[in-house]
Amino acid sequence: MHVRTSTSGLAAALAATFALMGGQATAAPSAAADADGAAAARVVTYDASGSAEFRSAVDRGAAIWNESVDAVELRPAAAGQRANIRVLADNGWPRAITTSLGNGTVYIGRQAVDEGHNTIRISAHELGHILGLPDRKPGPCSSLMSGASAGTTCTNAYPNAAEKAEVEGYFGGSFARTSGAVPLNALIMDWRAARTPNDGSHDRGRP
Ligand SMILES: [Zn+2]
Repeated sequence: MHVRTSTSGLAAALAATFALMGGQATAAPSAAADADGAAAARVVTYDASGSAEFRSAVDRGAAIWNESVDAVELRPAAAGQRANIRVLADNGWPRAITTSLGNGTVYIGRQAVDEGHNTIRISAHELGHILGLPDRKPGPCSSLMSGASAGTTCTNAYPNAAEKAEVEGYFGGSFARTSGAVPLNALIMDWRAARTPNDGSHDRGRP
């Protein structure tokens, strides 16, 4: 900000404003300011210890988000630490259970993997739900949230520019948001929609 002609009163007011903004940033649960004054990433921990054979795909999916956005960082939970995101493997369909923004449970369901869908794309997609993104089906392979609608040949596990911008918006800024565009306290059932094209939307409701 350039204020070349400020009076001392205005400067004092600006200083108070900056102090207030700094205070808010510090008071936020996991936000802080780094050296250049930009808000540091909000850390969201995940526990992939229950993701069995998909663990490396889950780690890769988390790393892709970390490469793609600045406002949030997915970090493996320390041993004994309660994670924001639990990642599990089971024999059902991939799905996410949202609680609040950055919190929930993800299932890397083997039914979609058995059909040939890419495990890293599934992982990044389901994490995307926890980061506030809803399904965007049908959609192209360039969209992460198009999920299974892009077909089994689609191995893209990166969010597109719009998806990145959405997540940056949800986690950026001084005020901690508690929701993105995805429904909260909902079960987001994935991949089954690929087999039932008349029902393009996901199932919603409690598990
Ligand atoms: Zn989905």
